[in-house]
Amino acid sequence: MIETALPPGRTTFSELRSLPARDIQGVGPRVEKALKELGISSLADLVSHYPSRHEDLSNVKKISDLRVGERATIFARVVGMKPVGRPVRGRSPGFSAQLYDGTGYIPATVWGRHWLQNQLLPDTKVVVSGEVQRKYGIQLAAKSVEIVEESDEKSTGPHAGRFVPIYAVNKGIQARRMRALVHRALDEAGHILDPLPLEILFRHELPSLDDAIQEVHFPEGKAALKMAMRRLIFHELFIIQAALAARKARIEETEEGRSRVGDGLLLNRFVKSLPFGFTGAQERSIAEVLEDMRSERPMRRLLQGDVGSGKTAVAVAALLTAVEAGGQGAIMAPTEVLAEQHFLSFSKDLEDLPVNIVLLTGSLGAAERRIAHERIQNGEANIVIGTHALIQKGVEFNDLSLVVVDEQHRFGVAQRTTIKEKGATPDTLIMTATPIPRTLSLTLYGDLEVSVIDELPPGRKPVETSVVPVDGRLDAYDAVRHELDDGRQAYVICPLVEESEALEDVRAVEELFEELEAEIYPDRSVGLLHGRMKAAEKREVMADFRERRIDVLVATVVVEVGVNVENASAIVIEGAERFGLSQLHQLRGRVCRGIHPPKCFLVSDPKTDDSEKRLEAMVEHQDGFRLSEVDLAIRGEGTLFGSRQSGMPDLKVAKLLRDMEILVEARREAFALVESDPRLRKPEHRPLRREIRELLGESVEWLFRE
Ligand code: ADP
Ligand code: MG
Repeated sequence: MIETALPPGRTTFSELRSLPARDIQGVGPRVEKALKELGISSLADLVSHYPSRHEDLSNVKKISDLRVGERATIFARVVGMKPVGRPVRGRSPGFSAQLYDGTGYIPATVWGRHWLQNQLLPDTKVVVSGEVQRKYGIQLAAKSVEIVEESDEKSTGPHAGRFVPIYAVNKGIQARRMRALVHRALDEAGHILDPLPLEILFRHELPSLDDAIQEVHFPEGKAALKMAMRRLIFHELFIIQAALAARKARIEETEEGRSRVGDGLLLNRFVKSLPFGFTGAQERSIAEVLEDMRSERPMRRLLQGDVGSGKTAVAVAALLTAVEAGGQGAIMAPTEVLAEQHFLSFSKDLEDLPVNIVLLTGSLGAAERRIAHERIQNGEANIVIGTHALIQKGVEFNDLSLVVVDEQHRFGVAQRTTIKEKGATPDTLIMTATPIPRTLSLTLYGDLEVSVIDELPPGRKPVETSVVPVDGRLDAYDAVRHELDDGRQAYVICPLVEESEALEDVRAVEELFEELEAEIYPDRSVGLLHGRMKAAEKREVMADFRERRIDVLVATVVVEVGVNVENASAIVIEGAERFGLSQLHQLRGRVCRGIHPPKCFLVSDPKTDDSEKRLEAMVEHQDGFRLSEVDLAIRGEGTLFGSRQSGMPDLKVAKLLRDMEILVEARREAFALVESDPRLRKPEHRPLRREIRELLGESVEWLFRE
């Protein structure tokens, strides 16, 4: 161990992690097991098992001093007990315990909590807090009742006479025991070393980690609790941002990119051939991308833009530039349907250019695949479009210089990294249509540069969105008929989880298809598309829809991302309450591309408040960024980071929407610190480095590789 820089007498968090919880006095095998179930196995876990709330038991009074209307806590002895309320099936709904403290008597009424009755034997000492009421005489409406030991009355005890922490507990461990354990653990932990530099704490008026942890459990008062929380939130976000900053610094230091400069010949011809001019936001994004490609450093850029904002055109501009500069470009899409659509539209848009485009998906036959592999390897393929098949073994590029990942939120971190390894530090452009709040993107993609397309192509009409109750769904289909009569097309979506299109799911979408074909639109051509169909069948259906041989396409969420058929002007989403908000927004995005004012019908039977809120949000908002914030607010943030895309740890105390300001401060400080010491090698930064490693684990191993 070479942690020589530690001030003496301080414990590091890392040391606390190596001390098992069972070493604490009072933790036997049974409690140890109960703690494990709560995810607590070390001293560190115990001191960071933060309370979910506090009970204000600081207003301790004598019975004779109680005033009607106040909330107070008393220490007293049980002297009698009787049931209250009208018994139901032989049991009273509550009881009243007569209490005495030497200055007077008061009955404390308790509703429910029957088990307490057997515990509150005469002479038991209790601490009770609640509101003093006048109801058939003075009484205390008890909110909390706890049995105490004689010694607890001194205010130094953890259980009363203060802000008392309330913890998440389970069957094997009681609230009181948990409080005592945390109290003891804090004692044993001693002074905890602060991995954050002092001057940062000064600048932001934050208490030390040591104080913050103490105060968050056993605060002196409300103000202290708030300060402590602020410190812990800052801490959590700072560690993540420091890791991101260090990753960025390291990549910039070790990855040697090449400067790619195009002569503009292909790009200009492409731009001229487009039936539209770029929006300002597209132009700006293209300029940023080309600038990155020109620099010696490999590009690592996120292109964020709402559904239909025209990200593909930016990707094409980048791909053509890579080709002009003599390299190969690849674009990876999450579904075959989307890869094939890109292939068709690229082939058409770039028809007159001397550019070879190759499609590589899992469903190519062996012979086709061999040819594709060959052309990719010998460099004949200039632009390669594909699915995951692109990152399989056996795919070798001649000179992969640009990687575009479309709809990146559908890929895992690993997949994104593997495709990069097919080239020698290629430039990467990551595109996402799932708009995420800025706070979240700073956290998830905090080490990437970001371009935002915050402007839709001109002439887009908002999608008229309505919620239709299930028994009115035929009205929705009637409304869609008007669209069809005007020569437009429609999607009908059946709610399935795409990843697991099980057989019964397929049956459901087939039934819906049959209903539409036989009963609702017998005079129209209705098509069916789901994930279990063979690739060739899917291709044929998409082609039929694109070329208007199909009027109504019944589909699962296979069409969720990217699919672009401009003549489609209506979408009916069955079982809309079962979709997430970002999915609904994506689906609706399928019909916002044409010139007709499009329509979206959300057929639903909301069963929860949350699903109702989601549907209301869809009616109210068109803007994906706004919707993503609503979504985050509804869903809560607990699991965002555990999700497959992030590789980041769950947040324990920070909430991204609420803590935006703290995040921005923490980010600024973390990036400045890393700039002054990119590998966190200075002795005073060692504790921080170590904290990053232990908290973020494998996802930051790169930081520690030599
Ligand atoms: P997304 O950002 O969702 O991937 P796309 O790139 O698929 O969106 O573009 C959606 C549609 O908008 C396409 O039909 C495309 O041709 C069209 N489009 C893109 N840019 C413009 C523009 N500047 N003006 C008009 N239409 C555009
Ligand atoms: Mg797209």
